[in-house]
Amino acid sequence: MKTKNLIMAAMVITISLFTGCGQTSKAPTDVAEETPAVESTATDVNGESISVVTTIFPEYDWVRQIAGDNANVDITMLLDNGVDLHSYQPTAEDIMKIATCDVFIYVGGESDEWVEDALAEAVNSDMQVINLLDTLGDKVREEELVEGMEGEEEEAEEGEEEAEGPEYDEHVWLSLENSQLLVEAIAKALGTVDTANADTYTSNALAYNEKLKALDEQYKATVDGASVNTILFGDRFPFRYLVDDYGLNYYAAFVGCSAETEASFETIQFLSAKVDELGLKTVFTIENSDQKIAETIIANTDSKDAKILSLDSMQSTTSEDVAAGATYLGIMEENLKVLEEALK
Ligand SMILES: [Zn+2]
Repeated sequence: MKTKNLIMAAMVITISLFTGCGQTSKAPTDVAEETPAVESTATDVNGESISVVTTIFPEYDWVRQIAGDNANVDITMLLDNGVDLHSYQPTAEDIMKIATCDVFIYVGGESDEWVEDALAEAVNSDMQVINLLDTLGDKVREEELVEGMEGEEEEAEEGEEEAEGPEYDEHVWLSLENSQLLVEAIAKALGTVDTANADTYTSNALAYNEKLKALDEQYKATVDGASVNTILFGDRFPFRYLVDDYGLNYYAAFVGCSAETEASFETIQFLSAKVDELGLKTVFTIENSDQKIAETIIANTDSKDAKILSLDSMQSTTSEDVAAGATYLGIMEENLKVLEEALK
């Protein structure tokens, strides 16, 4: 009986996993033309407005926080329609924006290989370019395969992987410690292109980092005071930097964020058994999940009463979310509330 359930579940999972992590069902090429990237409207007071182009939402929001009241900073978020960084391809218009901007901020992992070509078009030789992974240096971790997790299917021939080098976990913004370093670097870049306001950027960044630090302390206190120290994802797992900061253990169906992955019987069985063994009351997903894997894991536990909760990894935050008031800090605060419930 149990095997039969698993077979049916596996079929559903195979179908449901063709969209990449945090991604909506829209294909990147369909939506690229439809919605213009989010743009703040900078009033060009002295003909000196500075333009900042970012890829993902956390970068965009950090620039907003650092710029503060300065209406001379014009910010564009390229990935604003739900297509995540693993699937994004720039339009010609995006390339133009990057080529002419003053500050360009991107993650810099395997998903951003297109950036090199885009930067080759740059006309502004004084452009400040921030690559998050480079900025963090040795704090960047390789993707990790924990027990029970399925690796990415390697399409490459044997030996080719080594030539490509290690795969880094790109989701560095999910560590509040990393974020403070990145905010500092962004403030410095803004101050370099706009020296008149450099002090303001520095003090805004300091004030904002105090908030990040305070939230980081709250996460630590929550984890330290918790009775549960393991979280389990019926999904991909982009939160490695977050759990590492607080010493949480984790299990998950898949590593990081590969676009093509199928959950096997073994994976479901392993995770269901872990829920039972550890007495977990929660199975997590990331944002925009159809929750099928999480449901299947729970259906195959003894108690069948675990709850599904989601943590938002901010990989597909949209312009609508921005218009509705989304902030990096607000989302990380919400994530803490969800985590707190799961760790009780
Ligand atoms: Zn991802």
